[in-house]
Amino acid sequence: MANSRIPVAVLGATGNVGQRFVQLLANHPWFRVAEVVASERSAGKLYREATDWRLGARMPESTAGLTVLDYTAELQSPVVFSGLPGEVAGEIEQRLAKLGHAVLSNTSTHRMEPDVPLLIPEVNPEHVAAIAVQQANRGWSGFIATNPNCSTIHMVLALKPLQCAFGIEGVLVSTMQAVSGAGYPGVPSLDMIDNVVPYIGGEEEKMQSESQKLLGRYSVEGGFEPATFVVSAHCSRVPVRDGHTECISIRLGESPTPEEVIAAFETFRGKPQELGLPSAPAQPVIVRREPNRPQPSFDRDDANGMASIVGRVRECPLLGTKFVVLGHNTVRGAAGASILNAELFKVEGLLPV
Ligand code: NAP
Repeated sequence: MANSRIPVAVLGATGNVGQRFVQLLANHPWFRVAEVVASERSAGKLYREATDWRLGARMPESTAGLTVLDYTAELQSPVVFSGLPGEVAGEIEQRLAKLGHAVLSNTSTHRMEPDVPLLIPEVNPEHVAAIAVQQANRGWSGFIATNPNCSTIHMVLALKPLQCAFGIEGVLVSTMQAVSGAGYPGVPSLDMIDNVVPYIGGEEEKMQSESQKLLGRYSVEGGFEPATFVVSAHCSRVPVRDGHTECISIRLGESPTPEEVIAAFETFRGKPQELGLPSAPAQPVIVRREPNRPQPSFDRDDANGMASIVGRVRECPLLGTKFVVLGHNTVRGAAGASILNAELFKVEGLLPV
């Protein structure tokens, strides 16, 4: 089975998101990790020597013995997953797309470009049409497709069913984001213990602009038309290891009861569920009815970390409706999102294999 799977490369394979890619791809039915790439610090070493493995289960044996490649290496894998830092991702990802690779990127660098799809397969699968335009514009045989920022994706998975059922007029979101979202070693422990940091550089702007692109329209003639409702975000870092929690107040186009809002969440399904993609959660939005859930320690791994967990759905005296959403930031918030995008591309016949 190993050799019939599509070989993939992971860029930034030694980092937080890169390790999650390696873990999630270890037993994937369609893809196998064939190449791992990191900085000059790690290049030339075996993956097991270069990587300070920080995930719960053991490092997959199939990847441990690979030699880490430098980012200038000529890669053989048609599919490339990127967990590179934004400062270096731009040129590396573009070079690989130009050479014919399908690049599935977690980095913010290309997300808002006018011919680059920013994708959540349950939310805007029709935006894949931008790939043909990108290839024509840039003369590339490969392409770059992106997934959103880790806090945006869970908010937007929860907003999509409400947009479909009632329309959205405005959103106020306040986040409590896990420390692993800042990479490793990330925020110094003395800044995190007994503390909350009410600032994450660039995060509020990303939540606002990315959600409008994701929930907007795309046509080949007109390009991306962002949704017009206003999103106002407050983003904070809290002493939680994994799992972003977000408190959302929303003004909808209608005035549904909390039970009607819950029904919209629970009945929502997208293309990955219709197609039965291997990483798709059975239900993209899971509702918890206990008054004190969701909580990161208990709920972030529900549906293998691939769903958004909603709770505390109730009336808001200011905007009409409010609720809490929780999601795993390195699974559905990063590596798992790219892998689900790649699965959609495979089924749509868009991978260069
Ligand atoms: P990280 O833990 O700091 O890992 C960075 C990785 O990039 C390491 O493998 C590092 O290799 C490699 N790298 C650094 N400089 C490089 C260079 N010049 N050339 C090639 N490789 C280089 O960061 P992270 O948290 O995984 O985040 C990676 C990306 O994903 C970022 O763009 C981030 O914004 C995005 N993202 C993160 C999350 C999250 O929850 N953490 C969620 C969504 C998106 P060495 O080990 O050799 O230094």
